[in-house]
Amino acid sequence: MEIVVQKFGGSSVADTEKLYNVCKHIIKEKKKGKKVVVIVSAQGNSTDDLIKQELEITKTPNKREHDVLVSVGEQITIAKLAMCLQKQGYNAISFLAWQIPIITDSNFGDANILEIKTEKIIEQLNLDNIVIIAGFQGIDKEKNITTLGRGGSDTTAIAIAGVLKAVKCEIFTDVDGVYSDDPNKNKNAIKYDKISYDKMLVMANNGAKVLHNKCVELAKENKVKIVVKSTFKEESKGTIVE
Ligand code: ADP
Ligand code: ASP
Ligand code: MG
Repeated sequence: MEIVVQKFGGSSVADTEKLYNVCKHIIKEKKKGKKVVVIVSAQGNSTDDLIKQELEITKTPNKREHDVLVSVGEQITIAKLAMCLQKQGYNAISFLAWQIPIITDSNFGDANILEIKTEKIIEQLNLDNIVIIAGFQGIDKEKNITTLGRGGSDTTAIAIAGVLKAVKCEIFTDVDGVYSDDPNKNKNAIKYDKISYDKMLVMANNGAKVLHNKCVELAKENKVKIVVKSTFKEESKGTIVE
C-alpha cells in the first residue's frame, strides 16, 4: 500500500475555512488511491497564546507541566480536521501522540523521538480511515507528556513517514517552498526546485524555520523524500528535499 504523509503547519490550519482548504489537499491524495496520514500543528498562534497564559503564572514553569500545557493546541486541530473530513463523507480518525504511541525521551520541551509504534496507524489505514495525528508531542516511558521543541510538528511528520516507509512526506506551509533566504524578508530570495538534505540542514541550523532542523537529520537517516509546498496554491510544485 502506498502511504503519503502530509503535514500542515499553524498558518495552514488557522481557522475553519483554512481547515476545509487543508481537506482539499488530503482528498486529492485519497482520490489517487493513496493511504493518507496527516500531521497537524496548533491553529495559528495558539501555542504562543498558551505560553503567554503560562507567563501570567510563572516565568520558571515546571518543565513537565509546561509540556502538558503547550501540547494542548494540537488536540484541538486534530479533532476539528477529522470533523471537517467526516462532514464531507470521508472516514477520518484523530490520535494524540500517546495513543499511537510516539515514545520520546524525557527531555521536556526538546524531547527526542525514540520509537513510534505503527500497529494502530496501519490498522486504521486498512479500515480506509484518513489518520490524523497531533504533531509536536510525545509520551515518555513514564507516561509523561513531552514536546519536541518549537516547530516540532515537522519532526513528527518525518518520523512517521520514516517508520511507515511513506512514498513522500509533504510539508504544507505558507510559502511556496524552500528559498535561498526567508522570502518574507528578502524579495530577491530564489526558490529551489530541489535541495539536498545536507544543504537544507545547514539552512535549518542557520534558522530557516521552514523546516525544523531535527527533521532534516531524521529524513536523511531514513531516506524520507520531503516536498515543501504551499497550502494556499492549488498547483504548488514546491521544493523537493532529498
Ligand atoms: P509552519 O507554521 O507551516 O510550520 P513556519 O512559520 O514554521 O511554518 O515556517 C514557514 C516560514 O519559514 C515562512 O513563512 C518563512 O517566513 C520562513 N522561512 C525562513 N527561512 C526560509 C527559507 N529559506 N525558505 C522558505 N521559508 C523560510
Ligand atoms: N505548535 C508548535 C509550535 O508552535 C509546533 C509546530 O507548530 O510545529 O511550535
Ligand atoms: Mg514550522
